[in-house]
Amino acid sequence: MHFKGKKILVLGAGISGISVACVLQNRGAQVTLSDSKSAELLKNKDLSAIHQCGVTLALGQQGEELLQDIDYIVLSPGISIEIPLVKIAKAKNITVMSEIEVAYQLCTAPIVAITGTNGKTTTTTLIGEMVKTTDRNVVVGGNIGLALSQEVAEVGENGIVVAEISSFQLEGSIHFRPRVAAILNITPDHLDRHHSLENYIAMKERIFANQTKDDYIVLNYDDIIVREMANKVPSKVFFFSRKVELDSGIFVKDGMIIIRWQEKTYIVCPISKIQLRGGHNIENVLAACGVAFFAGVTLISMVQTLFNFTGVEHRIEKVTVVNGVPYYNDSKATNPESSIKALEAFEEPIILIAGGRDKNTDLTAFMKLIKEKVEHLILLGEAQERFEAAAFQHDVSQIHNVNSLSEAVQLAYHLAKEPQVVLLSPACASYDMFTSYEERGKVFKRLVYEL
Ligand code: ADP
Repeated sequence: MHFKGKKILVLGAGISGISVACVLQNRGAQVTLSDSKSAELLKNKDLSAIHQCGVTLALGQQGEELLQDIDYIVLSPGISIEIPLVKIAKAKNITVMSEIEVAYQLCTAPIVAITGTNGKTTTTTLIGEMVKTTDRNVVVGGNIGLALSQEVAEVGENGIVVAEISSFQLEGSIHFRPRVAAILNITPDHLDRHHSLENYIAMKERIFANQTKDDYIVLNYDDIIVREMANKVPSKVFFFSRKVELDSGIFVKDGMIIIRWQEKTYIVCPISKIQLRGGHNIENVLAACGVAFFAGVTLISMVQTLFNFTGVEHRIEKVTVVNGVPYYNDSKATNPESSIKALEAFEEPIILIAGGRDKNTDLTAFMKLIKEKVEHLILLGEAQERFEAAAFQHDVSQIHNVNSLSEAVQLAYHLAKEPQVVLLSPACASYDMFTSYEERGKVFKRLVYEL
């Protein structure tokens, strides 16, 4: 696919849309960037790059006239393939693609791609660290950081691209063909956009749609939906399992991670040596090792990376130890399911700091686990009242209400004693007190360091 001389309409003026518009304009296309938001609503966005590279801006109402003479439409991940303008474009036979399709077309290096409902960022980051131990030029991107279409230009044909790919990006993929891909798990998510679980699964399956028998797909054997995808893939299947010993694939046996492939068995390392906490992270580790195995990472480098990798910021991230008590930042846990994963990750008794903007999710399973594992529950934010009522109902005894994160950290500090751990895992969004979960996590870490 060539972009030079083509008239391209990019939809969505977010980070990804702005990047891809500039990339395409710089490659000789004539690009219009359109966003349904008005200039007034976008006034805080930095559009200087757009002006500098000569992209035409079309803000506000997105009428059919935008499609005049257009060859291709490029969608930002936030824009659904079902908006009226895109439907009209398709009816006019205009090719519609996502930003990762553009990245794929511009990339001369092989791409390693990771998708799934949960664990994408952790697994992608870990694979990135493993691949960096090879002598290849590595780019890690996708949902993380910069737009992939911008980053791939730098990598060169001897490099390798490690990309986190969401179902939204797969919605508009056409020829996208990762040489190694992984699907971590599938649970109902984003059904507002994909309508049904079947559709959501179909979107995830697009990650292997263009693979050939020379490519590899790493699949979660323990997830029945993902396991069954093996019947449809055109590439070589490599399963990972936390629960069963596999004839072929990567699995855990007697506390050891083992790879079995083409009649050979390789011992990777004991899981006790891995710094990441929680069973869900063992799954991420297995998937990462599987992908790295086919991306040319040696076993020694794989193991060294695993021993050193402490996790991605804000995901059960160890902050420091104060008076023998470790403090963990799990600010990314913005719903009870994520916080449950964090609670399950600890053997030690927990002092839990939770609350924030309430998403009105069911708290039953969360509170049951709190009753079992949490010695002090410190609540803050808008969710305080509902969380407190649910905790009472589940017979949780030590409940403390505070007015700020600073007060929460101070209280945790006064209560905490060995062998407890202090865990911030809010099970809520952050917007009642912070601009993002990242800001909440950073403030928590600063408060802990101040102790
Ligand atoms: P994503 O990029 O898919 O959102 P992250 O790596 O950022 O995933 O992890 C986000 C949260 O998802 C974690 O805090 C944890 O609660 C949960 N999680 C991570 N890995 C898994 C997994 N393999 N299975 C289930 N849940 C997971």
